[in-house]
Amino acid sequence: MNANVKFTPAEQHRLLDAEVSGQFPDARGRFGPYGGRYVPETLIPALERLEAGMREHLPREDFQRELSEQLDSWVGRPTALSHAPRLSAAWGADIWFKREDLAHTGAHKINNALGQALLAQRLGAKRIVAETGAGQHGVASAAACARLGLPCTVYMGAIDMERQAPNVGRMRLMGAEVVPVTGGDQTLRAAIDEALRDWVSDPDGTFYLLGSAVGPHPYPYLVRELQAIIGREARAQYLKRQGRLPDAVFACVGGGSNAIGMFHAFVPDREVAIIGIEAGGRGSGLGQNAASLSYGWPGVLQGCYSLLLQDENGQIYETDSISAGLDYPGVGPEHALLLAAGRVQYESATDDEALAALQECARLEGILPALETAHALHGAKRWAARNPGKQALLCMSGRGDKDMPTLQRTLLAPLPAPPPAPTPGAAS
Ligand SMILES: *Cc1c(COP(=O)(O)O)cnc(C)c1O
Repeated sequence: MNANVKFTPAEQHRLLDAEVSGQFPDARGRFGPYGGRYVPETLIPALERLEAGMREHLPREDFQRELSEQLDSWVGRPTALSHAPRLSAAWGADIWFKREDLAHTGAHKINNALGQALLAQRLGAKRIVAETGAGQHGVASAAACARLGLPCTVYMGAIDMERQAPNVGRMRLMGAEVVPVTGGDQTLRAAIDEALRDWVSDPDGTFYLLGSAVGPHPYPYLVRELQAIIGREARAQYLKRQGRLPDAVFACVGGGSNAIGMFHAFVPDREVAIIGIEAGGRGSGLGQNAASLSYGWPGVLQGCYSLLLQDENGQIYETDSISAGLDYPGVGPEHALLLAAGRVQYESATDDEALAALQECARLEGILPALETAHALHGAKRWAARNPGKQALLCMSGRGDKDMPTLQRTLLAPLPAPPPAPTPGAAS
């Protein structure tokens, strides 16, 4: 457990009971001590309108029916539950995957992008703005907007645009405008600031489609509601296949959307261990990882009070991870709550551990996971060594095709140099 946050057993019980009985987020948008809405005054009316619209439309039968139809016919839900027999034999525990890598665009992010785009349409928005770091959320947003006929503008740091050129191309092909952000750190944090600025300038006509379970209320709640289908499906599929629940459930944690989506249905099942795996990067030193729940302190980042990698003056540390999707200094407030309540254990996996787990999964199961997902795989492997014969269910959050440039560099031996071309006339 993170040594920077301590709650008494009585407080932990109270927080967990409140979470299980659905009292969070409360009227102020808080998950116990975390969450809230720490934004400039100009943003408050837009967030209040979004919250009212979300509460009106999300539970409606016609909204849910349209969402279900699109999820079934276009995203490809329900995604499969796969047993991993050879990995199970190698690791010593029974390993199962919930296959979000099979969802359209290759990861869980489409569940959220599609749901928010449908909500935007109901709220009468004329255009969508989104931000993206590695480009995966930008691609999911561009796809959902193309599907629904909504114009889409994606803000992306200039440095990220260069690093993730294929995703920039994918977004453009699907009709999105990708705007380079040259201010600030020229990466995800600057892109979020720019998307917020755009939204504030026209909060009625524009909808801000946020990519993870972070940010000001109501986003952490909205994203969780749209991703919770992962755990609901997985829990029912597992019960049907195995006639019982797994002993432990795993997911990787960046901002925390695939993890909260997977975990939420299992939180009330107190006999099921829940384990989230963060990016341990190159090690536990300052600036060497992106493990906010393991090493962070409470503080405010981008509108939300949660655990952050920061110094005593609130300056955010640089983060480091081989996986762009986990490389964020904060984490969603509901995870900070689940840590405080003692319900979820958060651990980390280093770059090297993730790469090794990715390679084992690819060779033994014929599944090339995303580098983000590979962190969760290492967590499951470590758990299996301590829990032989038990059953683990893991959220396979995405596929690894997007990571090929990194994998070429790190795991694949360089190809032998081609033989020198014969010089014309040299042979006699
Ligand atoms: C973006 C991404 C993540 C991390 O985001 P969360 O919001 O923490 O889920 C994890 N896995 C994959 C495949 C991703 O694309």
